[in-house]
Amino acid sequence: MAPEKQPQRKKIEATGQMMQIMADYFYDLNEAAASPTRKVAWCTSVGPAELLRAMGFAVHFPENHAAMLGATRMATELIPEANTMGYSPEICSYLTADIGAYLKGVSPLAKAYPGIDAPPQPDVLVYNTNQCRDVQDWFSWYARELKVPCIGISSPKNFTELTDILIDDVCQQMEALIPTLEEISGTKLDMAKLQETVARSRECTELWRQVLETAANTPAPLTFFDGTIHMGPAVVLRGTQQAVDYYQQLLAELQQRIAAGEGAIEGEQHRIYWEGMPVWGRLRQHSELFAGLQASVLVSTYCSSWIFPDFDAADPIRSMAKAYLSLFIVRSDAYKEAYITQMLKKFKIDGIIYHDAKTCPCNSNSRYGLPQRLEQQTGIPSLVISGDLNDLRCVSDEQTRTNVEAFIEQLEEKRC
Ligand code: SF4
Repeated sequence: MAPEKQPQRKKIEATGQMMQIMADYFYDLNEAAASPTRKVAWCTSVGPAELLRAMGFAVHFPENHAAMLGATRMATELIPEANTMGYSPEICSYLTADIGAYLKGVSPLAKAYPGIDAPPQPDVLVYNTNQCRDVQDWFSWYARELKVPCIGISSPKNFTELTDILIDDVCQQMEALIPTLEEISGTKLDMAKLQETVARSRECTELWRQVLETAANTPAPLTFFDGTIHMGPAVVLRGTQQAVDYYQQLLAELQQRIAAGEGAIEGEQHRIYWEGMPVWGRLRQHSELFAGLQASVLVSTYCSSWIFPDFDAADPIRSMAKAYLSLFIVRSDAYKEAYITQMLKKFKIDGIIYHDAKTCPCNSNSRYGLPQRLEQQTGIPSLVISGDLNDLRCVSDEQTRTNVEAFIEQLEEKRC
């Protein structure tokens, strides 16, 4: 008997172009680290990348490297290396996997990009705790290990209204980074360059928003699983022309799909919102699981976290402070509920999946009654799946499959 044909996620043609610009980015980082004149900064994923780029630093994002460790399923074996140094298995598995990779001297970059053995050695480490405290601990570990300066921003958290007092605080902290960065880079900050960089970040972010919002169409032309891959340039290349050019190309392809009435998965029946981190080592399995149930996981808080509408070239530093404070992850539950509610409406969502990631409480919004409150307010059912972003020991594939299948069945019954 011929095997049953499983619905698949449709391939995005621009993927080849994205892989090329990511390769160019990593080779450039590698060259910068080897160069006697260029400087390398490590930056957290929602840290002040524009400032670093405008000052000529090549910018490496350890979270991107850690996600690669997860996606290549190298992370789980590396985490215990960091655990033996006193870094608990309960804390961020990006942190433990990345430090574990350093201690073991391995990197997924070595396999993907011949000639690159490891992430570039930093000249400075720059964090923003807007997302969590773990990033500061993570960078502090490298600062001690590599004897490199570590500077950053301690961000306010859990607020509903973004006030001038909060923006002033972060703006001043950002300005206070400049003298140290000038000393390390050996150049004065050129405001015109910073304005240009912020303008390009704004353009990138606007295009990324348009890309993600194509999923409001029925059927949705892209999924959350596509988003996790195609967000690469928005994370590591925001502020550059390459990222802008790439998202123009991707958007054009998705608009063609919409015009042709093509969905990312065949026969879309259910429209799902994903709340929380992806399980990097299970992207393909999860994509196939949902596609097989004709459920399109089409939008997420996670991928939308690289939309920064507040960037303003006319007021670069203050607008960066505002942009990096406006993020979902920094806000109170009251704000988060209002945000998700409008996303459910905009994307015509039938059900929500909350990923309760064991080692990332900040990106797991199922622990303080938010799913129950939202379900009561909107009538949209939800399912919490337990797992982790990188540590596959926290993931039960069987339980995930059974729970997701039962949830989709529940959505089907609701439609009848
Ligand atoms: S937000 Fe979560 S995954 Fe990201 S660095 Fe912090 S703890 Fe790790």
